[in-house]
Parts: sequence; C-alpha cells; structure tokens
Amino acid sequence: MLTAKLAAKTHPQHQTILNISKTASIGGEELLIIGGPCTVESLNQMEQVANHLAHTSVQVLRGGVYKPRTSPYAFQGLGDAGLNILSTINRHHNIPTVTEVMTISQIEGIVEHADMLQIGSRNMQNFDLLKAVGSAGKPVILKRGLAATIEEFVMAAEYILAHGNSEVILCERGIRSFDNYTRNVLDLGAVVALKQITHLPVIVDPSHAAGKRELVAALAKAGVAAGADGIMVECHPEPEKSVSDARQALSLEDMAALVESLRPIAAAVGRRVPVAKMGQQLAVA
Ligand code: PEP
Ligand code: MN
Repeated sequence: MLTAKLAAKTHPQHQTILNISKTASIGGEELLIIGGPCTVESLNQMEQVANHLAHTSVQVLRGGVYKPRTSPYAFQGLGDAGLNILSTINRHHNIPTVTEVMTISQIEGIVEHADMLQIGSRNMQNFDLLKAVGSAGKPVILKRGLAATIEEFVMAAEYILAHGNSEVILCERGIRSFDNYTRNVLDLGAVVALKQITHLPVIVDPSHAAGKRELVAALAKAGVAAGADGIMVECHPEPEKSVSDARQALSLEDMAALVESLRPIAAAVGRRVPVAKMGQQLAVA
C-alpha cells in the first residue's frame, strides 16, 4: 500500500503506545475507553457525567464544543465557554478530555483546555487543519471520513505525522452506505486492516456507526473482538434530551454496563479493560 512512510507498520510487532495521562494509555494490552456526550451542554451536565463515570473504567471524557452540524440552524456548540467547562471538569475530576477541532484558529484554545484533539469525519481531508495539528503537541483522534477509503484515511494520518505530531489515533466511526436503518456501516474490516498496515492505535466509535442506542453495545463488543485498541461511546445523563445525537446516546447506567460487558471479550483477544481507577481519585474542589 501507498507511500505512508510514517504510518506504515514496518514489522509485525510494530505498535505505537501513547500515554494519554498518568494512568491511561492506548496501544498496549489495556483498552482505552472514552465516553461522554456528543455535545457539552452545561457544567452541570458534564459534572453529572464525570461523577457517574468516575466509578467506571472510562478514562477519557468526550464532549464537543465546536459542533459540525448538518443544519446551520441547529445548535453549533457552546464554543469557548464549553472549553472552560472541559478544563473545570478536568480540574475537579482529574480526567483527561477530548474535543473536536474544526478549524485552525481553535487549536490554541483546545490545546490549552483539553488533553486530546479530535478531527471529525467531515474534516478528515481538511489538509491545512491536518498540517496545523501536526504542531499541536497533544494526541489527535482522527475520525474516518464519511466515505473515505482506508488509503485516504491512512494518508490523512500521514499528514499529521509528517507535520511533527506522532500521537495519532485512528477512529473507525462507520461509513456511508445505501441502508439508512443504521446511520452508517461500522467497517470492522477496516479495523482489522488498519491494525495490519499501520502501527497507530485504532479505536471504534459504535455510536455514530449505529445511530441507535440499542445497537451500540454489541457493536462496541464487535470492535474490541476485531482488535480495536479502544472505544469511544456517546452517553448522557438524560439521553433523550441530548441537544445532538440523542437517538444514539446511552444512559450513564448503560454506559457503565457496556464497559463491564467488554471484559470477557477483551480477555478473549488478549486485551484488558482497565480497572476503575477514577473512583479512587479525589475530587480537588
Ligand atoms: C462526534 O464525535 O460527535 C462527531 C461529530 O463525529 P463524526 O465526526 O464521526 O460524525
Ligand atoms: Mn455525536
């Protein structure tokens, strides 16, 4: 394949392990579990999420503050105010956060307030943005484009690597097809292929693939069984009231149950769900 000089696996054991925080890493035996709402809606909402997930093995909180919405009339995210919420949550709960960057001018603020950047599907081939996060100095979750080939996906990662950032995580989140029963088609073949051809950690986002909460847990398990290094799942204190992606949001209780249900699947493929560490960490405020 291709000319992915930096993303390509050079020998069978070639695997990048990234440290996300003192206790969380990705690419080794332990899976990285990322959870949280589609959109940061309020400090209270994020406190509820963090308090609940503190007793689980979720190690990174997600939440969008700059949102790529199909309609210009839909809620576009809290913007900079949302970044302050993320850093407050990080201070209170000592949990790393990830949020989406849509444009170059947002990088600086996100790097200041969050621990990881996410490049969404709609920006997977925004080459100027890919180049710019090359110097962000923080891990980047790169989501596969809505109809991107595996080669295009790997080459998008290559842009970030080639511009100086070696901390790239690939995220399979489903691709467009003809059937609208599911929102997208979770391409598990791509997960297997990416693990074979690149050394980068690969995660699965079953939420945007499924589009329906009742499909999410089984797809998360399938992702782990296929060799993913982690999962990213949307959950919310009141799922039906989510301002975006309500239909696919899990309750916090269902999120906790999902994480536990991954343990035997992980063990079957030589992986481990991390112990629930956050509950032992003291809130500092
Ligand atoms: C999201 O993670 O909320 C999101 C917008 O995802 P995607 O870019 O995969 O559609
Ligand atoms: Mn979403």
